[in-house]
Amino acid sequence: MLARSGRKVLVLERHPTRAGGAVASEEATLPGFVHDVGAAFFPFSRVSPAFAALDLEGAGVEWAKAPLQSCHPAPDGTAATLSTDDDETADSFGGADGDAWRRQMAWHRRVEPRLIDALLGPLPALRPLMRLLPVDLLRFAAVALSSAAGFAARRFRSEAARRVLPGLGLHADVGPDDRFGAALGYMLATSAATTGNVVPVGGAGAITAALLRRLTDAGGEVRLGAEARRILLRDGRPVAVRLADGEEIPVRGPILADTDAVFLYQQLLVDARLSGRVRRRMDRFRRGWGTFKVDWALSGPVPWSHPDAARSAVVHAGDSVDDLRRFTAQVRAGDLPDHPYLVIGQQSLVDASRAPPGCHTLWAYSHVPSHLPEGWPARREAFADRVEARIEGLAPGFRERIRARRIVTPPDLEAFDPNLVGGDLGGGTNAWTNQLVFRPVFPYFRYATPVPGVYLCSSYAHPGGGVHGMCGFNAAHAALRARRGGA
Ligand SMILES: Cc1cc2nc3c(=O)[nH]c(=O)nc-3n(C[C@H](O)[C@H](O)[C@H](O)COP(=O)(O)OP(=O)(O)OC[C@H]3O[C@@H](n4cnc5c(N)ncnc54)[C@H](O)[C@@H]3O)c2cc1C
Repeated sequence: MLARSGRKVLVLERHPTRAGGAVASEEATLPGFVHDVGAAFFPFSRVSPAFAALDLEGAGVEWAKAPLQSCHPAPDGTAATLSTDDDETADSFGGADGDAWRRQMAWHRRVEPRLIDALLGPLPALRPLMRLLPVDLLRFAAVALSSAAGFAARRFRSEAARRVLPGLGLHADVGPDDRFGAALGYMLATSAATTGNVVPVGGAGAITAALLRRLTDAGGEVRLGAEARRILLRDGRPVAVRLADGEEIPVRGPILADTDAVFLYQQLLVDARLSGRVRRRMDRFRRGWGTFKVDWALSGPVPWSHPDAARSAVVHAGDSVDDLRRFTAQVRAGDLPDHPYLVIGQQSLVDASRAPPGCHTLWAYSHVPSHLPEGWPARREAFADRVEARIEGLAPGFRERIRARRIVTPPDLEAFDPNLVGGDLGGGTNAWTNQLVFRPVFPYFRYATPVPGVYLCSSYAHPGGGVHGMCGFNAAHAALRARRGGA
């Protein structure tokens, strides 16, 4: 957005061989098997104002959509499945639960564009909020003020339907009973139902390639292997960025940091005068949970017991709301979960370019403590076996189809991308204490920092984790507005 406005833009990327951070893909197991290193499903692709402005499709992204979007099976044979066809979802939820879903989606589809503007745009989102009717605001408040389990229990009767929203909340560190926890699961469920958990043909790296094309078309440049270590200030204003190798790059315009918020405030801005409150908040900044990920190369599709799972982009392993509660309690206690909740992705179901003919890839993650007293090397293989055992319970014969696996522990994630501190994929905790005006620290929730001309543009800023492009998009507009205002 900055380059398009005529600025001369230089992107400094620490990674030596690729840009894109957690949005990349690589042959990580066997030749011909393409795995996403982080993000894999893009339900915000259609609704994101940033992606619309950048026209990713025009820059080469081709989306592929599975017949079903999110399946939530259990070993007892039950499943609740989200589809972009509300009647299909209603049939899966069954009876009164199906009717409740239809009613919810009839409302949601009507308000979605305005709701998305209010939730993803810069705060305070007064104008988008004013475009919602009071009755719609009250209806959304009923979601936002609930816990995921509480909201689901009020709406649905069957255990299968009740576990969907709390399961989706556990994509980040939002437990079923967490205060104000329903919104994340709600947004993931409804965006799966409107856009779908779509994947870019060729791998997540296709999104980064499209963004790079937009950057270079507008005259911007990327330097790989360039790690920013410090922002040099003169009279309290940024004059240069110092790299890890000592090189100093002079700057004449704004600096946008796509970094961990703590790194920005404590390292890059070490020379800045910060208030005691900002310093204390950064000292005590709450991280999200760690993430443990496995990529598999398979000789065939996963032999799921439930037919919906075999047609669904994403499958969630979480047997019941109580099972999800137990998982949450174990991770919060610092223990490795004995029955890990899983987000399981089947990109190759809809994108044949991900694996050789007849073969498939599989991607899955669970949440875990970032650090273990005995260290991750001692536990990684056994925990990956536990993950496989859980999938085997839902898909007998799965293990026989494994040709190779790659394990990624929390320290591995942080090693390839320092924003994923301790394997936290959400840019800090998703608890309400780190949302909206508290993200990452009040009153710097509008991308600007106490240093004029320095902005935070990563998922540590509002609206947080997920590939929607809005942290950067909003931050770029904030920088452009300040420039026009002479700041
Ligand atoms: C395993 C996993 C699965 C996920 N699944 C999904 C999903 O399916 N769908 C979804 O929407 N989201 C998903 N996410 C979340 C999503 O990937 C992130 O929220 C998103 O990528 C955050 O974007 P970002 O720009 O803030 O940071 P990142 O994508 O982390 O990029 C930050 C970039 O900045 C670079 N950098 C950092 N510090 C410096 C420095 N000092 N100097 C130079 N360069 C630096 C890093 O190397 C990196 O390239 C997932 C994340 C992970 C890890």
